Amino acid sequence: MCKPSDDFEGPRNVVIAGAGPAGLLLTALLMQRNSELSTPLYRVTLVDNRRNFGLVSLEELTKSYRSWMLGLAGHGCKALQTCEGLYQEYCKEVGIELRSLSLHLGAKEIKPTISPEDLVDNENFIVDRNFIVAAIARFVEEKYHDNDMCTTLYDHKLLYVDYEKRRVLVRNEKDDQEFYMPYDLLVGCDGVRSVVREALVKRHSTFEMDVGDIFQTFKAVHVERPPSVDLASLHLLPAVFPEMTGIALPETGNKLNIGIGVARHLFDQLPAELKSDDPKVVAEYARQNFKAFELVDYDDFGEQWANQRWNRTGQVHCNFYHSSEISVAIMGDAAHATSPSIGMGMNTALRDAQVFYQLLQEHKDNLTEVLPEFSNKRVKEGNSLTDLAMHLYCMDTRQQLFETIHMIVRGALHKMLPSLILDHPQNMIGRVKFQLSDVYNRAKVVGVLDKHRRINAETRQAYFEKTNGMTSPETQAMTKGGWMSSKTLLSGAVVVAGVAVGYFQWMAHCM
Ligand SMILES: Cc1cc2nc3c(=O)[nH]c(=O)nc-3n(C[C@H](O)[C@H](O)[C@H](O)COP(=O)(O)OP(=O)(O)OC[C@H]3O[C@@H](n4cnc5c(N)ncnc54)[C@H](O)[C@@H]3O)c2cc1C
Repeated sequence: MCKPSDDFEGPRNVVIAGAGPAGLLLTALLMQRNSELSTPLYRVTLVDNRRNFGLVSLEELTKSYRSWMLGLAGHGCKALQTCEGLYQEYCKEVGIELRSLSLHLGAKEIKPTISPEDLVDNENFIVDRNFIVAAIARFVEEKYHDNDMCTTLYDHKLLYVDYEKRRVLVRNEKDDQEFYMPYDLLVGCDGVRSVVREALVKRHSTFEMDVGDIFQTFKAVHVERPPSVDLASLHLLPAVFPEMTGIALPETGNKLNIGIGVARHLFDQLPAELKSDDPKVVAEYARQNFKAFELVDYDDFGEQWANQRWNRTGQVHCNFYHSSEISVAIMGDAAHATSPSIGMGMNTALRDAQVFYQLLQEHKDNLTEVLPEFSNKRVKEGNSLTDLAMHLYCMDTRQQLFETIHMIVRGALHKMLPSLILDHPQNMIGRVKFQLSDVYNRAKVVGVLDKHRRINAETRQAYFEKTNGMTSPETQAMTKGGWMSSKTLLSGAVVVAGVAVGYFQWMAHCM
């Protein structure tokens, strides 16, 4: 059996694979931990196959390396604040502060009021993924460039974990040279396709994990922000086009990042215009059908939409995040990649790094205690994240309409009678007083999670059977829409929607 990781003297060689949000924050926090100890303990090598965004100017990032906009909620902000000087001086300036939420039902915009208490507790920012990575990378670069306990190896890819010898095989992407690096602790922050995670698969027969996709395809455009669109609001666009849901996030440079997605089994039902590769066709369709707000330039929307492929992203579940035997931990997307639907992936990744650091403090750097405790604290959060992102939403569009109404009505009633009516789980997301496992528990209690999980699993299975020729068209027709007649559902939903929206507006008026 391999020795436990605490059985050696002197500095620990820590290899961190992946310089995304999790890997970079962990690097900064381990350096901070060194400064708290009488003798520095962590000799960190951060390995990433891409270039160092910390050395790229904001202009170049904006021009050539734009990524997707994401919501940095209170959880993520608090994690960044754990590292002295990082949040205020490096990260805050690259985001846009959010003060409200807008729900667009057709042309109608509904703005649930956010309590002043929530606004104080929960700083919320919208930020480009690469801008936040660049900000933390710049912090590490400027603060630890000359520190011999911190080495960054950009343009280097981790290829393989030789856990029996506690070393990793790395390739320099520029000159193709391969070499081994020894480690005392290896942390996989290497995203959804994690190489480090493979070591857990090989070493532990009890390690369960799955890598799947989110069963959604989406497109995203960066358009000029229409004057009517509130810069300080996150805009939800349910049913923005037939079978499609969208989200619009303000970004720097007076732009708006609009992402619109469709569940895979509904793709064939999309209007042909949205599948067209002719920008004019798409522009005309958007002009006629995009009701949430008036766009400044429909041709630009059509151009960007038609000239990009449909995007997909993956999801990961794991039943533990560490191995004491081979001295490995995984965090961030490597442990719990997920759909962006509840906007908490990066927030949870940053929290993972923060919790790891806090455990080192609490357990006086005893990795034998820290590693299992890390799984103990974070597996429930990671799995709550992935399950909520997938199952707070229902792949059945009619059922999802009911769910949107449920959310609005329950939220409003909760405000009136907080001690009698539980809030909807969606309204708890991103508020620092709630962990994602609290939100998961609430979603179970109000009956959303198990119902959607069942419908979503059936939907995916039916789609799999259909696309692989396992069921005949007759069988597919017979089992379609199984659990309640669609006509009953739809008419019921429309009535309830009307009542709910009217009620909600009345409530907003009274506040
Ligand atoms: C469209 C979209 C919208 C999103 N919106 C939100 C949102 O609103 N809020 C939110 O909190 N989250 C959001 N997310 C999720 C968020 O982007 C991720 O959860 C977050 O980036 C995860 O950080 P990470 O550090 O774990 O991994 P990553 O960001 O994936 O970084 C992994 C790093 O590892 C490197 N790497 C990978 N393999 C290797 C290797 N073999 N060797 C060396 N380096 C390697 C990669 O180059 C990368 O730099 C969204 C995601 C998508 C796709």
